[in-house]
Amino acid sequence: MFKTLRLEKSLSVLVFVTALALFGQDWLLQQSHVLVLNKHTPVRFYSDKVAGGNSEAQFLAKTPNNFTWRCNLLEGNAYPYCGLEIILGESVSRGLDLSRYKQVRLWFDYHGRNKSVRIFLRNFDRRYSLVSDEITTKYNQVEFETNSPQGYYEFSFDDFFVANWWLREHSIAPGLSHPQFDNLVSFEIQSGSSHLLGPHQFTLRRVELVGQRIDTADWYLAIILAWGGLVLIFLLYRVVKLSGEVRERKRREAELIEVNALLGSRSRELESLAVTDSLTGAFNRNGIKEAVRQGLWEWRHGRKPLSIVMMDVDHFKSINDTFGHGVGDEVLTSITALVKSNIRTTDMLARWGGEEFVLVCRNTHRHYAASTAEKLRDLIEKQHFSEVGTVTASFGVASLGDGATIESLFKAADAPLYRAKEAGRNRVEVVAE
Ligand code: GH3
Ligand code: MG
Ligand code: MG
Repeated sequence: MFKTLRLEKSLSVLVFVTALALFGQDWLLQQSHVLVLNKHTPVRFYSDKVAGGNSEAQFLAKTPNNFTWRCNLLEGNAYPYCGLEIILGESVSRGLDLSRYKQVRLWFDYHGRNKSVRIFLRNFDRRYSLVSDEITTKYNQVEFETNSPQGYYEFSFDDFFVANWWLREHSIAPGLSHPQFDNLVSFEIQSGSSHLLGPHQFTLRRVELVGQRIDTADWYLAIILAWGGLVLIFLLYRVVKLSGEVRERKRREAELIEVNALLGSRSRELESLAVTDSLTGAFNRNGIKEAVRQGLWEWRHGRKPLSIVMMDVDHFKSINDTFGHGVGDEVLTSITALVKSNIRTTDMLARWGGEEFVLVCRNTHRHYAASTAEKLRDLIEKQHFSEVGTVTASFGVASLGDGATIESLFKAADAPLYRAKEAGRNRVEVVAE
């Protein structure tokens, strides 16, 4: 229950994270590169003088986040121009890889008659660029009207195109004529293509290049792989866990089998203990219950006689007193063995208590039970008991009569036994008819 709840929770969290990764990818993956504008920024001002013109560029301020310069475009060159170049690369040929970038954000003010301004992101590529000639870097260009009151402009990299004059001048093959941002060596702001003469003032406050840390397709692939990986880990975990559980179950089963076997033998032991007297091995009272019950039934339904013989060892107390309790125990055990080996298999000997025994003889007449008692008495008398020597016992015999109960039968046997004791012991007395 808890486990499935945990799984559901984890799944919900994962689905939530996935949704976040999918819908929040712009925010999550966004990366921006802000060009540092301070006095250490490597910049260069230029004008058409390098191409034989007369225009002039003059730097007015180079404080953090405020590069201000003035351009005075004068006649001379067919296309008068001037501009500012910020060096992006470590060297002429090694620039920034912004191929995963998407936008340029610009905080920029212009004062003058010429409303349009051009920006260039110049890319170095050995297929068309020469280290010795900086004009051979590709002019990725965008031109725009400086009409934003906040001085904020944003362009997509898709808005860029490669300047036609550059393509023409360097005879660039069509395959290389597309805008390229993988090795940008400089960023430029230049006066617009209308080339209006006169003063123009520019202030650059901030340049931000915005892109993605990871390509969208790669991001989706990563999400799919993460899910695949998680599913795989989960399956592996389940396999390992299940095989552990199977092992554990087998171990428990083996344990149970062992315990059951032990319990089985123990319960068999207890069963026999429950019906047997532990000292002598004769039945106990409980052990002869069933035989007595059966004898009663046989008498009542089949008129089969049921006789019992009560046997009590004579002067047993003095045996104990003289030879010790242990010897007394041995006498009881020896008498039991002697009696058991001299009765029929249907006769049952039970220890009634102390040194008193009862012999239950089913389907046996009183006189037959009496002769059995006599035989036993004789055997005991003749037996030599170690240490003790001779031991005798007294017997009382009784049979079940009409209307008698088991209780009355056992009581009835007490009387002749008492008589036998009274008459001097080592005797068999039978209940009077
Ligand atoms: P009697 O001839 O009149 O039967 O005399 P007795 O001494 O045999 O009878 P009594 O009832 O006076 O004494 C029985 C003794 O048997 C008393 C008791 O300590 C002893 N006894 C009872 N159970 C055991 C037993 O399991 N082992 C031993 N060694 N003695 C037992
Ligand atoms: Mg007794
Ligand atoms: Mg006795």
